[in-house]
Amino acid sequence: MSNVRVRMAPSPTGNLHLGTAYTTLFNYLFAKKNQGKFILRIEDTDKERSKIEFEENILNGLKWLGLIWDEGPFRQSERLENYQKEAQKLVAEGKAYHCFCTKEDLDKEREDRQELNLPLVYSGKCRHLSTEDIKTNLDMGKPAAIRFKMPEDRGVISFEDLIHGKISFDSLLLGDMVILRSNQMPLYNFSVVVDDVDMQITHVLRGDDHLSNTPKQIVLFEALGAKVPEFAHWPSILNPDRIGKLSKRNNATSIDDYKKLGFLSEAIVNYLALLGWTFPEEKEIMSLTEMEKEFDLKKMRLSPAAFNMEKFEWINGEYIRKLSEEELLKRLQV
Ligand code: GLU
Repeated sequence: MSNVRVRMAPSPTGNLHLGTAYTTLFNYLFAKKNQGKFILRIEDTDKERSKIEFEENILNGLKWLGLIWDEGPFRQSERLENYQKEAQKLVAEGKAYHCFCTKEDLDKEREDRQELNLPLVYSGKCRHLSTEDIKTNLDMGKPAAIRFKMPEDRGVISFEDLIHGKISFDSLLLGDMVILRSNQMPLYNFSVVVDDVDMQITHVLRGDDHLSNTPKQIVLFEALGAKVPEFAHWPSILNPDRIGKLSKRNNATSIDDYKKLGFLSEAIVNYLALLGWTFPEEKEIMSLTEMEKEFDLKKMRLSPAAFNMEKFEWINGEYIRKLSEEELLKRLQV
């Protein structure tokens, strides 16, 4: 058993989407290939949009695809105290501070900075409040968010992405981010890092729409005194016309839709894998068990692939033809 631990962290704000299944698949394969653990975490801190029906749909869909997790599901909504505790700890250590700025203050500040052509990050106004002022404000019950204090000398934040290679960001353009809102709810970047530390995640593997979050998460790992995990980001699946990320605009996007259209789970897994990863020996058909042995993160595509229904149907046909009559009959009934 290796110490590799990866996680998939869907937000239950919709039914299981092809894109979520795609990211889950590669996390699953990486864990299997490295004899590690695959952890499932439900990121349900957005109370308005998170629904239990969506969570059930996601869990059932992943099971149907055969992407079974080793630990979890853990729910962020059940872990709120952890985020609050860690945020307070950072304040106590001088790595974060209370911010009493109201929405109006922040809007005004933003406008002013826009006029002056300054980066649109928080000015750091509350960074410099005296201990007495902070205490007075808190005693008065003024709503206080907690902001991370970006170290002034942090300079360039670089990391070696396992797919893209070296990526660098200027810390000055990130500013002091809010980690806990005044209603005590954590912000995405903070809850993710607190959980990744607790769950001892060694590799964060996800779509490149999260690339810009990575430097923010790296500084938070550092502040919490934790080892920064390895990162890999891959391109999202594109619409068939290559315009934009795969969307409902002209395709079915949920796993349920494809199940209803008659796609076998094996074919969905095979097609998704083929979209992101070049199979060995230019193969196009590979079972999940075979993939678990052959998977190589380094062979993931750097340029995005477009969804192609004809190819998908061809792969489905290959799997249907492999079924015995008895098995086919059974599948036709569900
Ligand atoms: N909840 C995030 C999402 O659905 C997960 C991001 C991550 O993997 O860090 O995109």
